[in-house]
Amino acid sequence: MHGQVSSETQTILITGGAGFLGSHLAARLVEAGHRIVCVDNLHTGRRSNLAPYLNNGRLTLIEHDLVDPLPELPRFDAIYNLACPASPPHYQENPVATLRVCSEGVLRVLERAARDGARIFHSSTSEIYGDPEVHPQQETYHGNVNPIGPRSCYDEGKRFAETLMMDYCHQNGVQLRIARIFNTYGPRMQPNDGRVVSNFIVQALRDEQITLYGDGQQTRSFCYVDDLIDGFLCMMDSDDRARGPINLGNPAEITVVELAELVIEMTGSSSQIVHHPLPIDDPKRRRPDIGKARSVLGWQPTTDLVSGLKNTIEHFRDEILSEKHRVHA
Ligand code: UDP
Repeated sequence: MHGQVSSETQTILITGGAGFLGSHLAARLVEAGHRIVCVDNLHTGRRSNLAPYLNNGRLTLIEHDLVDPLPELPRFDAIYNLACPASPPHYQENPVATLRVCSEGVLRVLERAARDGARIFHSSTSEIYGDPEVHPQQETYHGNVNPIGPRSCYDEGKRFAETLMMDYCHQNGVQLRIARIFNTYGPRMQPNDGRVVSNFIVQALRDEQITLYGDGQQTRSFCYVDDLIDGFLCMMDSDDRARGPINLGNPAEITVVELAELVIEMTGSSSQIVHHPLPIDDPKRRRPDIGKARSVLGWQPTTDLVSGLKNTIEHFRDEILSEKHRVHA
C-alpha cells in the first residue's frame, strides 16, 4: 500500500513542521499514532497549520531556529528534515539565512540523528538540476546551476545539503533517505506564499490581474501534496535501496500559461493575464523522471491536476473569506 506508516509508535522530529509540507506530514504521522515534535522558526510556517493537533497530547511545536543549538528534546526514532523556505521570494528575502539552514542547520540535525540512532529523511529539490539541459530529469543528471545568481542560495544550499547528508551518513553510519521534491501544491499553502499555484488562485479568486512571468511557455509538473506525503512515508518505510536521491513529483507537464488559463476557468474569474518579466535563471522546462520511485518504492502520484486544484481552490476560498471576516470584525 502507498504511504503506509510503520505500526509501532515512534517519536519523530519534523524540522519545518509548521510549514506547508511539514504540517501535512505531521497530520499523517499523528493520525498513525506517533508522537511528533515539530521544530519551526515560524518564518514561513504557521502555528495555525498544526492547530487541530496541538492539544491532543501527541504533537508539540517548538519555535526554534535550527541555526541555534537544539533545546532539550526526547530521543527520536526518526527525523524528517524539512526546514527551509521553498518559495523563491521567501528564500531570496534573506539568502544568507537560507544558506545557513541548508548547511549549519543540516549539520545540527545530522548530529542529532547520529546521537539518537534515528533514520533521517531529507527534503531535497528539483532545483538541484537548476535550469536543466536534460529533459525529463533523472537522478543521474548533475544539473545546470548558476552559483552566484538570485536562486543560488537555495539551489547551491540544497546541493551542499545533499553532499553533507550523503558524506555524514556514510561516515557515521546514519540511515538516510533523500527525496528530490518537484513543484508541489495543495491546501495549507499561504495566500502570500509567492509560488505560481497559490499566486494564480488567489489572484483569480480576488478578480485581480494574473501575474504571468515571461511568455508563460516555461513548464512545470505539479504534484498534489497528499501524493507527495505518501512518497515520503514510502521512502522512510523502505529498505536501504530507498536511500536516494529519489525524484518525487508528478510527471504531468504543463506550461505556466496553460495553468493560468485553467485556474481562471476553474474559478470562473474575470481576471486578465498580465505579463511580468521572467525572473533571472527561471528554469525553462521541468518534469521528473519517476522511474526510480516507481521501481524502488512502488510509488506514483494518483491525483490529477484538476482534482488537486479543486481542493486547493476550496482552501483558498476559505482563507480569503476568513481574511475578510477578520478585516470586518
Ligand atoms: N510564475 C509566474 N507567476 C507567478 C509566480 C510564478 O508566472 O506569479 C512562474 C515562474 O516564473 C516559474 C513558474 O511560474 O516559471 C513556477 O514558479 P514557482 O515560483 O512556483 O516555482 P519554481 O519552480 O520556479 O521554484
